[in-house]
Amino acid sequence: MKKLSPILLAALLALAALLAIRTARFSSRQLKAEPAQPFAIDRDAMAQRLSAAIRYRTVADEAPAPSGGGEFRRFHTFLAASFPRLHAQLTRETVNQQSLLYRWQGQDARLKPLLLIGHMDVVPVAPQSERAWSHSPFSGRIADGYIWGRGAMDDKVGVLGILEAVEGLLGEGFQPRRTVYLAFGHDEESGGHAGAAKIAELLRVRGVEPAFVLDEGMNIVDGIIPGIAAPVALIGIAEKGYLSLDLSVETAGGHSSIPPADTAIGLISRALQRLAATPFPARLGGPTARMLEFLGPEMAWANRVALANLWLFDPLVRKKSAASPLTDAIIRTTLTPTLFNAGINENVLPTKASAVVNLRILPGETIAGTTEQVRKAVGDPRVKITPLPVRMEPSAVADIEAEGFAVIHRTIRQTAPEVIVAPALLVAATDSRHYAGLTKNIYRFLPITLRPDDAKRYHGSDERISLEDYERCVRFYALLIRNSNR
Ligand SMILES: [Zn+2]
Repeated sequence: MKKLSPILLAALLALAALLAIRTARFSSRQLKAEPAQPFAIDRDAMAQRLSAAIRYRTVADEAPAPSGGGEFRRFHTFLAASFPRLHAQLTRETVNQQSLLYRWQGQDARLKPLLLIGHMDVVPVAPQSERAWSHSPFSGRIADGYIWGRGAMDDKVGVLGILEAVEGLLGEGFQPRRTVYLAFGHDEESGGHAGAAKIAELLRVRGVEPAFVLDEGMNIVDGIIPGIAAPVALIGIAEKGYLSLDLSVETAGGHSSIPPADTAIGLISRALQRLAATPFPARLGGPTARMLEFLGPEMAWANRVALANLWLFDPLVRKKSAASPLTDAIIRTTLTPTLFNAGINENVLPTKASAVVNLRILPGETIAGTTEQVRKAVGDPRVKITPLPVRMEPSAVADIEAEGFAVIHRTIRQTAPEVIVAPALLVAATDSRHYAGLTKNIYRFLPITLRPDDAKRYHGSDERISLEDYERCVRFYALLIRNSNR
């Protein structure tokens, strides 16, 4: 056997030492939280109120219709009757007829306010999918330890949970030092332009500058993150941008018995194929890098070494992340075809073919830059590329060193001590983006637990929340208000 050259041996030893030192310094970011003071909860009454809230059909798509508007107003009346102390002591404004803004005056006007947001509208239930529900979607049935129905997770749980917390705190005689705003939109599921956007505009005109904003968005995931046995509470510190591009080709058409070399369908197909073959680059930067800094130290040794030494293992970690759609979506801008249209008859060459690709843009990239990359990848001037009207740049990234993040982190550790906390990137969009002009410290988290088969309940059938989780949501909001007023 050939002897290792002394230089190579020294280099290997130095590398091993470096990896070991960096791994040893890669220490846990989890806050040690003292146990929380007790908070009195009437579990049954609380569950009954959420159940009753689900029975209001505050459906997003029906909202603009007169009947839908009426349903929101009936829902407001229900809230006033259900939370009497809150409605006596907080000021309430109806914004744009259907959204609600509450203000709980703080004792110290120098402190920046806290803004808790949620939405009252829910997505519709397609008539043919109603059979897939174990309990009728607007029944609010309480059975088998769960509250069932549309809005149980998204997002009547947030609205009612926040209101329960404030009502409970008022019952204890608690008065906040900083002013607390509660803002509930009525059209989040269709963009939030009539609700959250209007509330945010009102707050901006009044010069309100929140210390931080908390919205729904991410949850506690259990058995979903590879390499971590404990449940993980993911706090969304940013969300991806949104863009759809229409690709279209117009040709002369003609009879299918004498086909030309290039057809409209052929050209669009080739464009889509080229796009599939040139994915956007994978990056372990921004919110995803912050997430790995929090998760890495909690993992077994081999993963810890890799994540503590991304300067060396970055390609390996990217490759592993790209292997699953769930993790691939947080390391790159994604692109996928969602519509395809061409042809009127089996023996007629279509004069036009078109497709729509939907993109979710990584923070740090832009609508203009991504559009240009698509144009380059398609590389064919015959394919016309037009952006569709609904588009959003990626959000700013909230500060994880800011007090707001620490307060949320500490509150999660107090209400769910078994949980690991980490910042993360949300791949969907929430109402919170409308508040971006007020502060960059926007966090997206709601403490319900998602196991591997639960994510599909969002906007799907059998949406439900366990009674334990709901109780924890209420405790979380109550404690969060207390903790941010210390
Ligand atoms: Zn929602």
